[in-house]
Order: sequence, then structure tokens, then C-alpha cells
Amino acid sequence: MSTIDLEKFSRYSRPGPRYTSYPTALEFSDDFGYDRYLEYLEQGKGPLSIYVHLPFCRSACYFCGCNVVFTSKREKLSEYVEYLKREIDILAQHIDTKREVIQFHFGGGTPTYYQAFELDEIMEYLRSKFPNWSEEAETSVEIDPRFFNEDQMKVFQKHGFNRISFGVQDFDPRVQEEIHRIQPYETTKAAVELARKYGIESINTDLIYGLPYQTLESFQRTLERARSLDPDRLAVFNYAHVPWLKKTMRKFDETTIPAPEVKLQILQHTIDYLTAEGYEMIGMDHFAKPEDELFGAIAKGELHRNFQGYTTRGGANLIGIGLTSIGEGERYYAQNTKNMNEYEEAIDAGRLPYERGVELNDDDLLRKSVIMELMANFSVDIPRVEKEFGIDFADYFADALEKLKEFEEAELLSVTPQRIQVAPTGTLLIRNIAMPFDAYMNKYEGNKKSFSKTV
Ligand code: SF4
Repeated sequence: MSTIDLEKFSRYSRPGPRYTSYPTALEFSDDFGYDRYLEYLEQGKGPLSIYVHLPFCRSACYFCGCNVVFTSKREKLSEYVEYLKREIDILAQHIDTKREVIQFHFGGGTPTYYQAFELDEIMEYLRSKFPNWSEEAETSVEIDPRFFNEDQMKVFQKHGFNRISFGVQDFDPRVQEEIHRIQPYETTKAAVELARKYGIESINTDLIYGLPYQTLESFQRTLERARSLDPDRLAVFNYAHVPWLKKTMRKFDETTIPAPEVKLQILQHTIDYLTAEGYEMIGMDHFAKPEDELFGAIAKGELHRNFQGYTTRGGANLIGIGLTSIGEGERYYAQNTKNMNEYEEAIDAGRLPYERGVELNDDDLLRKSVIMELMANFSVDIPRVEKEFGIDFADYFADALEKLKEFEEAELLSVTPQRIQVAPTGTLLIRNIAMPFDAYMNKYEGNKKSFSKTV
């Protein structure tokens, strides 16, 4: 990648969505009602991707943007397992349970805050209700190396888990202290070795840049330590500083958070370093070895972006189970409540704990297709979009194409009648490049508290 003009790039730093969904979660509301949601579930066809949210953590990492419940009471965890099972029962009344499950993910929270027998209980129950589990299912879990033992690993092996994502964030002791997550390198190394011992095919480590006290030099040391673990994939996320939404982020002294120019330097360096080490960049924040299945998917235009990042399993309906989880069908997003009392009340009343969502109209579907193609493949195949949606691209997206001119003039992308192609340096600004296609962005213009910054 050529050297980027840091001053020019940092001018693009502005609030913007990460586009794990389109429309974004800010558009979710109760206009999309419960009965309509049930209709979609009941009419759904084809393969399923299932996400189970285990929201509990022992203590807060101050950078964390997840929906988490902090507790040391084990009985809360076991109560929640009972509710999950009942939620699965209700779901099974509204979904054709013969549909094939081709993807499963445990997220959180800290899924491995649960003991092995509880994780086993959830998996056994889910698989008894959704028995058509593909032998090739991509089955994955997020693991905090500080809470991980061999008994849990045996449960994951028993249920065919083939991907593990280890949360690391940063190895630097000063940064770890500031973010309230002390995790020695040896702890992470032991966790990765345990997963390898049990034959896990794909090991991912998650890092975050933009955290307090990070510098280019300190992050380089983190990258080298992460590299020494030889992960198959690395996710290197841009820290989303949203203290108006997350109280723990207010604990940071904002003057210690790296400036946009420093973040860009770190990102550029990360790309250069990992590329030199044999990894290739996928989408805006993932790196993988060239033999990874994600590359084959890029070549075929089959790489997709969803709430778990990048995936090759794009055609499946996503069913979210548990507090705050999000489901996705072709024409809707549906989110469960974030409030534990409401979650339990809904299930006690025999209802799904659905709270809000959005039903996509034809314009949303079209824009989603363009934005997700940009986010996943850094390009848009214009004839494909025209054929699939029956539009004249130049006419329909005249405004967006006008807004892309500034990126074109800066040689960050090119536009021809056939294709929008983002240049390698433009990939660092992919969120900015996608935003002109977002019909809802105008609503948030000038509202600094809508999204995290793009740079
Ligand atoms: S980063 Fe993980 S362990 Fe830390 S608070 Fe968030 S979910 Fe919990």
C-alpha cells in the first residue's frame, strides 16, 4: 500500500456507521411489530444461521461496546440457561425446525464465563430442537482467554466447533491497565495452544487500535506478539469511542486516546506488517492467510458482511437467541430486548423477547446490496445491481455518484459504467465511501453523537 497522506485522511474523520446492517440499528423501531416478525419467521425457507448471546461478564473492560451484564452470581447464569431453553421452544413453534443449520455462533459477554456443563446443556438443547445440523456447519465461539479451560474445550470439540475467536485487544501492560483488562501474553498463548491441541481449524485473534496510550511503537509490539501465536485470521478493529452510550468509556482520559492521524498510521502500519507476514486484508478490518475460504468467496463475489463480521455463509436467515441478539432475514432485522426483566417477562408470557426491528422496503434492499458489496468486496458490480433491481444505476444513484467525486479526485476510487472500484488506500475510508448510498444519513448530519468516528 502506498504511503497515505495522513493530514488529508484525517480530514475524513467523521461520525459514520460500521454497516454491520443496513439500515443501521438506529432505524430499528417498534413500527416493525411482533406479529409481522412472526409471519417472517413462519414463512422463512432455506438454511439457518443461529446466534446465541451469553451476556455475562465478571468485570467491565472499559472500551467494550457490547451489551453485557456484570455479575458474580452463578445462579443468574443458570437461570438464564433455563430462559434460553424456553426461548428456543417458542422459536421452534414459529420456525420450520427441519431447516438446515449451516452456521452457529456463541457471542457475548463472555461465553466461557459459563461452565462446561452449562455450555453443553445449551448446545444439546438447541441441537435437539434444530436437529438438521450440517456436518459442514461453521460453528464458532468468542473466547476470553482469561476464562477458558480444557473441560469447556472438550464441549466445543464434542459439538463440532471449528472456529474460535480470542479477545486480545492489546498486549501492552500500560494499555491493559487503562482499559481494565489485565491479560498476560502467556494466558492468551496457553488458550491458543489448548484450542490447537483439540484441532480447531481456524483461530482468530481480535485486536483493537485507537485505545488509550497506544502508540505506533506499542501497537507494533502487540502485532508481533499476536503474530507469534500464528492465528489463521486477525481482526483489527477501530476502537469506537461512544461515551454518550457507554458509561465505562467515560473513565478514559480522552487526551490519551490516539489522534486520527496516529490511528491512521497504526492502521497503515498494521496493513503493511501483516501483509509482509503473509496475511491478506479482507474487508475493512480482517486479515487472513491466503488459503482462507474467505478469499475464494471474494473471487466469486460471495463474501458477506453481517453482525459477526465477514462470512461466506450469506444466504442463511440469521436467528438471534438471547438478550439483545439480532436476527436478520432477507427483508427484516429483528432485535431482542436489552432489558433482562423484560426478556424474562416476555418468555414467561410465552412470547419471543422481540423488541424492535425494521422491515426493509425495495429501496432499502437495493441500498443494502450496494453498501454490503462495498464493505465486503471494495467494489460494486454496476450491471449486476442494474439487472437484479431493474434500475439505471447512474440515474438512481446520481446524488451518491456526485458525492463520490471527491474520493475519485483524491484517487481513492474509480467509477466506470461497469464498476465502482475502491483503490487500496481508499479501503481505509470504506465507511465514508459507503455513506453516500445510505438514504438515512441526512437525518444524522451534524449529530456528533450518532455514530463512532470513521477514522
Ligand atoms: S470485552 Fe468481552 S470480557 Fe470485556 S466487558 Fe466486553 S464482553 Fe465482557
